[in-house]
Amino acid sequence: MADECAGAGRPVVVDRALLAKYDRPGPRYTSYPTAPHFTEEFDSAAYQAEIVRSNRDEADRPLSLYMHLPFCDTLCYYCGCNVVVTTRRERLEPYLLHLKEEIKRVAEQIAPGRVVTQLQWGGGTPTYLSPEQIRDLMATIRSHFTFDPALEAGVELDPRECTLEHLSALVESGFNRASMGIQDFDPEVQQRVNRVQPEQMTRAVFDNCRQVGFKSINVDLIYGLPLQTVARFLPTVETVIHMAPDRIATFNYAHVPWLKKHQKLLKEETLPSSGDKLDIFEVTAHRFTEAGYQFIGMDHFARPDDEIAVAQREGTLYRNFQGYTTHAGCDLYAFGMTAIGQLSRCYVQNVKTLGDYYAALDNGDLPVERGLMLTDEDLLRREVITRLMCDFALDPTDFEGRFGIDFDDHFAEALSAFGAFEADGLVEKRGRGYTVTAAGRLLIRNIVMPFDAYLGTREGERYSRTV
Ligand code: SF4
Repeated sequence: MADECAGAGRPVVVDRALLAKYDRPGPRYTSYPTAPHFTEEFDSAAYQAEIVRSNRDEADRPLSLYMHLPFCDTLCYYCGCNVVVTTRRERLEPYLLHLKEEIKRVAEQIAPGRVVTQLQWGGGTPTYLSPEQIRDLMATIRSHFTFDPALEAGVELDPRECTLEHLSALVESGFNRASMGIQDFDPEVQQRVNRVQPEQMTRAVFDNCRQVGFKSINVDLIYGLPLQTVARFLPTVETVIHMAPDRIATFNYAHVPWLKKHQKLLKEETLPSSGDKLDIFEVTAHRFTEAGYQFIGMDHFARPDDEIAVAQREGTLYRNFQGYTTHAGCDLYAFGMTAIGQLSRCYVQNVKTLGDYYAALDNGDLPVERGLMLTDEDLLRREVITRLMCDFALDPTDFEGRFGIDFDDHFAEALSAFGAFEADGLVEKRGRGYTVTAAGRLLIRNIVMPFDAYLGTREGERYSRTV
């Protein structure tokens, strides 16, 4: 039985039988090929050669910068990020020194005049930095790069560590987008996940963001945490609607204790079942769409006038390591421990410990651990997956024109899976192409998997479940 949530933009249809049928482990496709397929053969020399090639062949591609600031005061037990948990603030200083060195070393290799149109600070907790450290780091970045006057600059905020002075320093430094972690306002849930963040505190930081002039505010929620039920989560949803952020991400908690050992601290018997999680998502999606938000896909909602919603309607939405973005065609240079960058033909990931990060930079090298050069076939498949995930549609003619292939012949094997998707009502055939139905949108990861030529080819490849 399918339930349709009406509202602005595309409806969200939750068909339990279909979701149960397709529930299996699968990538989230913030990159293709996905990170488990990066290799150490791609090293800092390969990265630098790609920067040279990019300067020569693609000098007009704009730049996107990402700074990974991994420090947090306390550990949230659900955390899936790469973090350094410490209350010893002095540990930040050497990190910032090395981060600035990495920025300088990479920037020196990028052709002057290439323009930065997007910047993101993530973590960890970027506001672990003091207001002075925020200003100082941003001044360093500005001294090495040319910023577009219409720069889109976003920062992740933790309301537990975010004074008015932090927010003022961020806005003065040029940030115009804030993304705030809420997860769940329920005090008991907060206690279970070791993230006590009173509603009053969050709302004060939210109001301060508006006051100091952030143009856009996103909030993150998580469903699938201990003790959560529809009845417990609904007050959080209603409060968020009342706060009226521009975007909302409602993440499905990925329980991957084999990758993130601390997640074992969340007792499995306290986690909602997949049926309960679907109930929570269904009610949440219903309320957000009813309140006027557009369902973007995966777990994202946006006001219909938000850039991301407009980009989706216009077919210009893109997907990268930061999730959905309006900045297609950028080279993403990522800095800091574990950060992942993406140039047009490669992915590159930095080393994963502070010790390795410092050692590489102290030795005069870039802290690259691994990456991947993309083949023409990878580029083609990445574009197919991206268009499906962003547009919920597939137009073979477009790919034939751009890539010089016979689509049906080239993807005969992948398309054979579409017969079953069509029979199950996940996709509809339109001419030679396909559109993803409302019921299929929640299973978009499953729908793109047949185009993933790497899936299951590597030992130890394990992903969170798609539902
Ligand atoms: S604040 Fe964010 S990055 Fe830090 S531990 Fe919590 S979830 Fe992880």
